[in-house]
Amino acid sequence: MDHAYDWIASDLQALHRAGWYRSTRLSHGSGSAQIELEGRRVLQFASNDYLGLSQDPRLVSAAIEALRIHGAGATGSRLLSGEREPHRQLEKRLAAWKGCEDCLVFSSGYLANLGVIPALVGSRDLVIADAYNHSSLKSGTQLSGAQTLTYPHGNIAHLERELARHREEYRRCLICTDTVFSMDGDLAPLPRLVEVAERFRCMVLVDEAHATGVLGPTGAGALEHFGLAPSLVQMGTLSKALGSLGGYVCGSAELVDYLRNRARSWVYTTGLSPADTAAALAAVEIVHGELELRTRLWQNIAHLRAGFTERQLRLLPTDSAVLCIRVGDVGRTRRFADALWEAGVYAPAIRPPTVPTSRIRFSVMATHTPEMIDQVLAAIDCVL
Ligand SMILES: *Cc1c(COP(=O)(O)O)cnc(C)c1O
Repeated sequence: MDHAYDWIASDLQALHRAGWYRSTRLSHGSGSAQIELEGRRVLQFASNDYLGLSQDPRLVSAAIEALRIHGAGATGSRLLSGEREPHRQLEKRLAAWKGCEDCLVFSSGYLANLGVIPALVGSRDLVIADAYNHSSLKSGTQLSGAQTLTYPHGNIAHLERELARHREEYRRCLICTDTVFSMDGDLAPLPRLVEVAERFRCMVLVDEAHATGVLGPTGAGALEHFGLAPSLVQMGTLSKALGSLGGYVCGSAELVDYLRNRARSWVYTTGLSPADTAAALAAVEIVHGELELRTRLWQNIAHLRAGFTERQLRLLPTDSAVLCIRVGDVGRTRRFADALWEAGVYAPAIRPPTVPTSRIRFSVMATHTPEMIDQVLAAIDCVL
């Protein structure tokens, strides 16, 4: 008898009892707005594929072409054998888009945050973070060994007080924030945050995962939206609006040069696959060139928003393609999501511990049609 692993079964039972147990749903075939999930045709409102690019034939062709030329895998760390032409092409393209000198592409956004934070700060340093930051920022901070303070969501006055009290105790200080918060959809007050950071000589890491391809005149993200061009560390992912896989960090040439030497999740892992790299490069070109994709996305966002307002639903503050409504406690929220599912709409219930308060989260895509948005609103009427 092996008792060493018994705790796993009892932990799983505890998850079930708390209503926190989660499992995957199998999706068949292609399609972005309408998909087959668990054998059911549903409208997809749970995807990060904001522009529908994951299914775009141009990304698929670019990936196939790269597979033919470069093979399936990068074969090693880019410092050893894994550097391929598309890697640098993509990095130069991303840097130009983000208004930075250079860029480093990681194998995922999560790995980018695991790499960049410990490269910038260590045990003598301080990280100050928004309480709603993404898990990867929290994990990166833990890995760095830096002292951590969190400020209440979006509360820059609180951030400022913490800095006034504690900044001098530390060598370096890094402020970390999502720009668009992934589970709420609102924006960090970046102009004020940047001003405070400069005053207290802090570095700033912004995570543009849900803003890239969505916000700003060329879709470059929240910094572009605010017209901010400061010396920030701009991190993001290639796996959301860009429809591929991978993460990136953009900044000064010096910063990127340093990361190539010090970001362990880049140095000690295999380079991003040629296919993913080429697909992401194709996506950047499309986002740049096709304004109408973003126009359609924002029309859909406005449409769904207006429908929520008309029904006097409790919409959480949002500035992005993520729209959340509160419909009651954990139990009610789950039943609401189940009823939507029965009505052919997949918009998940997001519950504690992921977020402090339960909500239904809709992520809007450019590939939704106005009829689909109306279908969602009709489904909500039914559930209500
Ligand atoms: C999704 C996400 C990440 C991780 O990106 P991946 O490329 O999916 O690993 C990091 N930060 C935020 C805010 C995210 O939403």
